Amino acid sequence: MFARSALYLYQLRKNLRLESAELAEINRKKLRAMIKHAYENVPFYHRKFSSVGIKPDDIKSISDLSKVPVTTKYEIQSSSFDDIVASNVGVNGCTARATSGSLGIPLSVFFDEETLDFEAAVWNRAYLENGLRLTDKMAIIRLPRFFPKGRRWYETLGISRRKYISVFDDPERQLELLEDFKPDVIKGYSSSLAILSDFCRKRASFSKPRLVFTGSESMDDRNRKLISSVFEAEPLDYYGCIEFSLLAWECREHMGYHMNTDSVMMEFVENQEEVSPGERGEIVCTSLVNHAMPLIRYRLEDVGIPVEEQCSCGRTLPLLKKVEGRMDDFLIAMDGRVISGQIFSPFPFENWEKEGIRQFRVIQERRDKLTIQLAVNDSSYFDALVLENARRRLQQLFGEDMIVEFQILEKIDRDSSGKLRTTVSKVPFHWKNH
Ligand SMILES: [Zn+2]
Repeated sequence: MFARSALYLYQLRKNLRLESAELAEINRKKLRAMIKHAYENVPFYHRKFSSVGIKPDDIKSISDLSKVPVTTKYEIQSSSFDDIVASNVGVNGCTARATSGSLGIPLSVFFDEETLDFEAAVWNRAYLENGLRLTDKMAIIRLPRFFPKGRRWYETLGISRRKYISVFDDPERQLELLEDFKPDVIKGYSSSLAILSDFCRKRASFSKPRLVFTGSESMDDRNRKLISSVFEAEPLDYYGCIEFSLLAWECREHMGYHMNTDSVMMEFVENQEEVSPGERGEIVCTSLVNHAMPLIRYRLEDVGIPVEEQCSCGRTLPLLKKVEGRMDDFLIAMDGRVISGQIFSPFPFENWEKEGIRQFRVIQERRDKLTIQLAVNDSSYFDALVLENARRRLQQLFGEDMIVEFQILEKIDRDSSGKLRTTVSKVPFHWKNH
């Protein structure tokens, strides 16, 4: 409902200026209400709380939350709807969204109408704070299955006009559609906008958006520079997921990502303990909003680094320094060190431009084997010495015994989620073991 979402937006924007302690108190109350609701209405959580002897009154503060055992994707996947959807809400009238669960089996999450309105307001807060205007035209490059059906009534009034473009279209087609629509704002996956930027820079002229929003994938420096130089607009990156919608967002200060703590509590955990600021931890989330299907201490299987600093923009939402990626974006060296996929590009190469490399992916096939896939400009001229140097650098980092294989390809394809992952690990990896 438009009016309800507008009211949420008003409240959410006010929260940005509250003192941290004041906002924490609002969030604490929401958390207590959610815990009580889950205990009373969701059999799955009633059992989970009872299994460790917890009653809702034992969770008085955010720090008490760690008494609740974590929830895994697998647990949700293997539960019936009656078990995980609140009995006083029910699935009728709810919207279901599917996300990739563990073992490649999809997982459905249910959202009530109020939650959808709240989520829309959370997104709009981040957009408006970053300079979006109501009359802006936004082109969104995404998976076709997420295209909405039909236009909203206000689009005909010139408000919040949207154009959806498939992430699977080639950059030539995407540019054609963009030139036709002439958006003020472009939003898309960072890898997709980087490929589009690379295509655009060979063009004499094309219409440039005023704002560029990216998300859904880890943003690396190379893509960030490429997108900002071609579009002449600094990309502002958003971190979200199907289960909780928008979790955190960059502002123009680029000091990190503001976490929407008034929507989702985010914990950063290693060995069942909260990590210190500046340290890497597995992200565990609790929704303060979704009463239809509460998710409490849910393991997102992503890894991030929280920080203590306040952002210089003055907004009091706390900062997440960066999201290092999914658990399977991490690789393991021969001696057991955990290596983030973010070390790549240009590493293990020196200069992609000069070396003629367009795309890159590393796959850890086995504990002792890395396969490096490369899409290059001209395979017949590709220099063997470049590969040899890259192999040497990889072995220095991962261990001399690491087998490194190269595959030269025409193009690296997106996976079915539309993402272009640069790191893929097939080695079972449990964060707690390291
Ligand atoms: Zn900021």
